[in-house]
Amino acid sequence: MSTDSYSIFSVLREALRGHTGWKPAWRDAAPKPAYDVVIVGGGGHGLATAHYLAKVHGITNVAVVEKGWIGGGNVGRNTTIVRSNYLLPGNVPFYEHSLKLWEGLEQDLNYNAMVSQRGVVNLFHSDGQRDAYARRGNAMRMNGIDADLLDVPELKRILPMLDFDNARFPIKGALRQKRGGTVRHDAVAWGYARAADGRGVDIIQNCEVTGFRIEGGRIEGVETTRGFIGAKKVGLSTAGNSSRVASMAGLRLPIESHVLQAFVSEGLKPFIDTVCTFGAGHFYISQSDKGGLVFGGDIDGYNSYAQRGALPTVEDVCEGGMALMPSIGRVRMLRSWGGIMDMSMDGSPIIDHTPVEGLYLNAGWCYGGFKATPAAGDCFAHLIARDAPHPVATAYRLDRFATGRTIDEKGMGAQPNLH
Ligand SMILES: Cc1cc2nc3c(=O)[nH]c(=O)nc-3n(C[C@H](O)[C@H](O)[C@H](O)COP(=O)(O)OP(=O)(O)OC[C@H]3O[C@@H](n4cnc5c(N)ncnc54)[C@H](O)[C@@H]3O)c2cc1C
Repeated sequence: MSTDSYSIFSVLREALRGHTGWKPAWRDAAPKPAYDVVIVGGGGHGLATAHYLAKVHGITNVAVVEKGWIGGGNVGRNTTIVRSNYLLPGNVPFYEHSLKLWEGLEQDLNYNAMVSQRGVVNLFHSDGQRDAYARRGNAMRMNGIDADLLDVPELKRILPMLDFDNARFPIKGALRQKRGGTVRHDAVAWGYARAADGRGVDIIQNCEVTGFRIEGGRIEGVETTRGFIGAKKVGLSTAGNSSRVASMAGLRLPIESHVLQAFVSEGLKPFIDTVCTFGAGHFYISQSDKGGLVFGGDIDGYNSYAQRGALPTVEDVCEGGMALMPSIGRVRMLRSWGGIMDMSMDGSPIIDHTPVEGLYLNAGWCYGGFKATPAAGDCFAHLIARDAPHPVATAYRLDRFATGRTIDEKGMGAQPNLH
């Protein structure tokens, strides 16, 4: 099916005829008996994988099988932050590849995903933290990634509402990545869905994978609530449900599932025009184009598959916000919600083969999964199509926990809840 081309002319044409001529952005496909590739999970990663399989590798006999609806998972629940300010060699090329794909995404998909490179400012509050951020910034620059260290007068110009002289957490400066920012999260799901559908991919909603058919160590297809679907290759991209889904194929993953909450305030006039993170607690904030302050903090800290969180974390996040910018104290909170996140043992993801032939895994995305969406899709498609890792994702191996080659960006050790 061909999709509408969104342009100034089509918008004008439809405005004149009451918007009656738009085609649906993607078909509501019914499952066929078999496909070359079945992707389990219609989140940002699954849909991006289908798009790059079709666009880059010419593999179009593909189904994305989603148990709910497109955009109902974490891709539509996150705080929309994108950046590539990583330190470790395993992560740096991957996240920079992702940021470059974000920079060209809207042209690639012919879809307005509201990519906004408004900058990401990470505050520091002590001399030790300044050293750590300077080190990170230097590593970024040596890898050709933009980074600058801001002093207090410069920060006061950009973020005048911060409590600079807070007695416990005085603000001493920040590391900024100007190319970081935000992207409208659900538009990412819709844009990839539309682009993949336009190249012939079937997007099958309300279809839960309930098992795998494996013969002689090789994948044959997936059992679903809408019947068996045969597949030469199957890719798992089920975010917070990875360990549960993989266990149906007999795999035990080095992953825990945790709830992460997000919050949005009532709409305000323009207040903060960058992304800002607190360095003495876990709090990050930006402002949506509708005017709501969008913010979040730590995971709830206990294992859960519930897509909602508990009140102690709400209190903790709001305390972080108040310590950083007391002026938001009288703003009303409009909504909060939760999503289930894979937390891996070292805080880094997995894009790899599994011991089952023809079964591939994209999992363990923790806090960094939204910013990774384009690169995860590109690299997972590369792995599935060519049976070899993409050059920027060679470190994301499943066996690294056994071989000791972990990628522990935070330096926390094997503590999934602390990454
Ligand atoms: C509150 C919150 C804030 C976040 N903020 C950020 C941020 O600012 N920046 C950032 O980079 N990351 C952020 N993240 C992380 C990021 O959102 C996730 O890591 C990423 O979205 C996961 O990939 P996905 O989009 O494919 O996941 P999802 O959208 O969750 O997709 C997985 C899909 O698999 C489906 N599925 C599960 N089991 C089955 C089954 N058996 N059969 C069929 N389908 C199944 C689910 O229904 C779901 O739709 C945040 C996460 C949360 C929860």
